[in-house]
Amino acid sequence: MNHTESWFVDLLHKEGVSLTDQQLQQFDLYYQLLVEWNEKMNLTGITEREAVYEKHFYDSVSLSFFLDLNKAIRFADIGSGAGFPSIPLKICFPHLEVTMVDSLNKRLHFLKHVIEALGLQQMNCVHGRAEDMARLKEHRDQYDVVTARAVARLNILNELCLPFVRIGGKFAAMKGADPASEVNEAQNSLIELKADVQNVHHLTLPHEQSDRHIVIVNKTGATPKKYPRKAGLPGKQPIV
Ligand code: SAM
Repeated sequence: MNHTESWFVDLLHKEGVSLTDQQLQQFDLYYQLLVEWNEKMNLTGITEREAVYEKHFYDSVSLSFFLDLNKAIRFADIGSGAGFPSIPLKICFPHLEVTMVDSLNKRLHFLKHVIEALGLQQMNCVHGRAEDMARLKEHRDQYDVVTARAVARLNILNELCLPFVRIGGKFAAMKGADPASEVNEAQNSLIELKADVQNVHHLTLPHEQSDRHIVIVNKTGATPKKYPRKAGLPGKQPIV
């Protein structure tokens, strides 16, 4: 085990996430593929091993510190990009049935390669805009937990993500240093989309010491038929 893997295993263990050698090998292979494919396509600005393990892997898994994923089955990641947070979470919680939605097909091409190389099961890659995919019966009001990291502000995300969540399920928005203004700005979108903020959790990345927040949103009722609006509109004319 190298130095990076050693702190990664120890810190996750302290948070109740224990990794086997096989899971650690899956993280290593994911790291190698990310760096290799990043030469051909834009996947991440971070490539140094220690930084990837902290800012992508640890950061992704941190969602599970605040939401018990052992109780979830159907899990969706909207705007999954190079696989964050869904691939690290799937490695740690292999029972999850994961759907990754992204409008950029070449990123999904990378994800399919990762899924095969790591031998991950029950992974569904969906190419399309969240606004369109959330209208399909197989996705609407279906998921126990939906997440998004680095995709949009919270009022926009509520419209993109809450339609996928089952009634009583959770949307976990992974946010940076200061989510307070986004949470304020999102009040009307929560009312419109039948949801409320359950909690805003804070964490600090272990080495870099930068702040992160995870906003947990409860879906209390079915998404009204008019949401999400036409593709592009949630971003252009956010609910305010
Ligand atoms: N979640 C990843 C992460 O944290 O590294 C990727 C973040 S990247 C900045 C945003 C991703 O969201 C891109 O891959 C983009 O194609 C996707 N995206 C943005 N808006 C979307 C939409 N309306 N529907 C589906 N995917 C979307």
